[in-house]
Amino acid sequence: MKRIAHWIGGAEHAGTSGRVGPVFNPATGEQTGEVDLASAAEVDAAVASATEAARAWREASLSRRSAVLFKFRELLADRAGDLAAVITGEHGKVLADAAGEVARGLENAEFATGIPHLMKGAYSEQASTGVDVYSIRQPLGVVAGITPFNFPAMVPLWMCTTAIAAGNAFVLKPSEKDPSAALFLARLWREAGLPDGVFTVVNGDKEAVDAILTHPGIAAVSFVGSTPIAKYIYETGTAHGKRVQALGGAKNHMVVLPDADLESAADAAVSAAYGSAGERCMAISIVVAVGDVADPLVEAIAARLPKLRIGAGTDPSAEMGPLITRQHRDRVASYIERGAAGGATVVTDGRQADLPEDGYFLGVTLLDHVTPEMDVYTDEIFGPVLGVVRTATYAEAVRLINDNEYGNGTAIFTRDGGAARQFQFDVNAGMVGVNVPIPVPVAYYSFGGWKASLFGDTHMYGPDGVHFFTRTKVVTSRWPDPGTSSVDLGFPTTR
Ligand code: NAD
Repeated sequence: MKRIAHWIGGAEHAGTSGRVGPVFNPATGEQTGEVDLASAAEVDAAVASATEAARAWREASLSRRSAVLFKFRELLADRAGDLAAVITGEHGKVLADAAGEVARGLENAEFATGIPHLMKGAYSEQASTGVDVYSIRQPLGVVAGITPFNFPAMVPLWMCTTAIAAGNAFVLKPSEKDPSAALFLARLWREAGLPDGVFTVVNGDKEAVDAILTHPGIAAVSFVGSTPIAKYIYETGTAHGKRVQALGGAKNHMVVLPDADLESAADAAVSAAYGSAGERCMAISIVVAVGDVADPLVEAIAARLPKLRIGAGTDPSAEMGPLITRQHRDRVASYIERGAAGGATVVTDGRQADLPEDGYFLGVTLLDHVTPEMDVYTDEIFGPVLGVVRTATYAEAVRLINDNEYGNGTAIFTRDGGAARQFQFDVNAGMVGVNVPIPVPVAYYSFGGWKASLFGDTHMYGPDGVHFFTRTKVVTSRWPDPGTSSVDLGFPTTR
């Protein structure tokens, strides 16, 4: 069985806490590894190493930092297939999804290669007579990232690429469910020429997280995970004087207007609801069918479901893999019963699918006639369960989304440009798709939700990422009157 250690000072470090957690292959249910769970003392040692490294790294020139990022980007592109295999081995998602995750993370590395441009400040000459004012961006020092299981490479890449390019040392606490991708990234950083200690991995659970949140040597915490934990991270981190951005859970609605292209809306709903087994924070979990589109839309979605191939992520013909753990699979499956008991119509029941015997598989479920009081509507299920809510009007659909606790992503399917534009104006969510079901922003915009999907005010990666991982300093300078200069400037004849 594999032992998954920490990464401190540019090398693997076996844990000393005496505590470990199991790591499984979700496609077989077999335990494949044990991950070290750090104590507060181990977090301390990691931060000490990062602090030392941060001092030297902020002195590295912008072009040197950019060169490391270019090299890292090349290595990541070259090894994308190997990293995808590592992700599939512990997360379970199919290799194509894992490769997609790496490709999105790669874009963040590409964005960060532009750090010399991104770190530019502003300059105001002659703000007052003989006085210039300018702003500069500086790194924060040691910053930390705490990440979820569902994107074990992409979410760390959202954070670490910009944080490191900006001149910080980055300490990553990945999900203990699939920690190997983090160590894969650590090795790439070392090979790219990043000085030891600038990228650190401390594996662990709540104990390590609490040590990070209260550590006086950590200036900022970037978090992605579920809403209750995001709230806890935000409150605890800020109470300890840290800058915190904490992205939480989601319940993303896809509105389908009566004029939409039905076939492409149905295709989009299927891929956005069941891709990665629904374990995506941008997954569509509710389709809002407006007016008379409901019956044909439900029929079109249902007709596609028997064709969806479910299997191990390593099987090239599989389109959907298992869920992350047995407990999570059972919890997701329990919503099918609860939906039925609450009055929803079970159009397709994932428990009845023909599934591999071992592993944490569940088929896809489609629930029709879902209403806002049902827990299948209110709860983030985070699995392959799609609910359909029927509304009579566009206004009712928007009200539904705006009343929802979460506000991560949402989408509208329509051929009417005016309706789409109105939706973008009306809707309370951080990311909006127009005929695009999963509107994850490209790397040069920033990713983040509203309401219970984000605690803090800064979105992740892109321009907001640069803002989050730097602080500005404004310098006001006055130099002697040129007429009094010790050097003959020919004053005032040069005027
Ligand atoms: P999670 O909240 O259980 O865990 C996230 C991180 O927090 C992990 O590193 C974990 O070790 C740590 N953690 C868990 N419990 C903790 C506790 N009690 N105290 C301190 N730390 C704790 O989330 P998850 O199950 O790994 O990931 C799925 C969740 O993440 C979903 O809710 C999903 O919507 C959300 N997510 C959101 C986004 C987004 O961008 N908004 C992106 C991906 C995932």
